[in-house]
Amino acid sequence: MKNNVIIGAGVTGLTLAERLAAKDENVLIIEKRSTIGGNCYDYFDEDNNYIQLYGPHIFHTDDEEVWNYVNKFSEFNNYIHKVYCHVDGKLINIPFNLNSLYKAFDNLKADKLKEILINEIGINNKVPILKLLNHKNDFIKELAKFIYEKIFLYYTMKQWGKKPEEIDQSVTDRVPVFVSMDDRYFKCRWQGIPKNGFTKMFEKMIDRPNIKIILSTDYKDIIKNLKYDKIYYTGPLDYFFDYEYGKIKYRRIWLDFEKLNTNSYQENSVINYPNDFKFTRITEYNKFLFINNKTTVISREYSSWDKGFEAYPVQDEENKEIVSKYLNKAKNYDNLVLIGRLAECKYYDIDQAIKRALEEVI
Ligand SMILES: Cc1cc2nc3c(=O)[nH]c(=O)nc-3n(C[C@H](O)[C@H](O)[C@H](O)COP(=O)(O)OP(=O)(O)OC[C@H]3O[C@@H](n4cnc5c(N)ncnc54)[C@H](O)[C@@H]3O)c2cc1C
Repeated sequence: MKNNVIIGAGVTGLTLAERLAAKDENVLIIEKRSTIGGNCYDYFDEDNNYIQLYGPHIFHTDDEEVWNYVNKFSEFNNYIHKVYCHVDGKLINIPFNLNSLYKAFDNLKADKLKEILINEIGINNKVPILKLLNHKNDFIKELAKFIYEKIFLYYTMKQWGKKPEEIDQSVTDRVPVFVSMDDRYFKCRWQGIPKNGFTKMFEKMIDRPNIKIILSTDYKDIIKNLKYDKIYYTGPLDYFFDYEYGKIKYRRIWLDFEKLNTNSYQENSVINYPNDFKFTRITEYNKFLFINNKTTVISREYSSWDKGFEAYPVQDEENKEIVSKYLNKAKNYDNLVLIGRLAECKYYDIDQAIKRALEEVI
């Protein structure tokens, strides 16, 4: 029987473990934290309030294989994710769409802009904000300026710690305006939250006699004493190679949690604050599972270079060069698989991380 070691019990490591065990192989998972699920870890507090410890995580996918796979381990609720942002005392749907017009402006102005957008761009089409900023129609240009300045610019500056002129055009290019009434944040075919949370779903995935897990342990402390045929590493790439070519830069996130004596703190699960305060958004987790308690837990989310957990790898040339040096060096190891968002230094959504792991074990 083949013996595998998996470093990291995030969604990548757990999917690998489940698939390898299903092939009757042995799996040992080593996880540094005292919990499983990586950044998708969630739990309920003593008053049954739902909390996602590493910020809001909503499952969404268009991939039928992944959807069928996760449904083997948990039912999903019918939560549909919507996001609002707080601008000049109003709550506006984002990504900006035709409904947002009526939240941002009076009905007369909204009606007019709606008509112009439908005529100029066409219903159910989306356009990057940068394109709208340069549009030939003056009303559209003015609207684009409003969206850019009030919704996008300062949020991105807080998120990435950059001045407006330093923000890469490729980032701006990805911010779309939807000429549609569809308020869903994710336009995927399937979305929701596992009915009892992600952690319960993960526990079920690895509930097999041929999967063992060691928590609260850095793999480097024990790996020398282990015998294995293959190692799957899902931790940070630079750490694996003892930072030989330098540290990979990440934008970090930290969360400030607060429990409140009310059944509802805000109108929506997630509200972004582009222009006020130092935090980027407030999340109220009970709303993901439609929990109505006497208390509720919220988090205020901050972006930082030095505090919190590694959230988003910086996509600059310096980072790309360091990453490629490590990945080249990894080619010399034949029983090693580097996989997942930290080891590959790529942004993966949950469904993409699962897909990647499913494709690795066939
Ligand atoms: C703020 C935020 C919000 C997100 N929201 C969504 C969302 O709404 N929907 C969505 O689809 N995706 C979302 N994602 C993406 C999602 O978090 C990732 O797809 C997922 O976490 C990737 O899982 P992973 O296993 O590759 O990495 P991780 O979850 O980071 O797991 C890696 C694991 O390795 C462990 N590890 C690291 N070093 C060591 C070591 N030395 N020894 C042992 N163990 C180690 C870590 O402790 C961790 O548990 C979000 C990401 C962030 C940052």
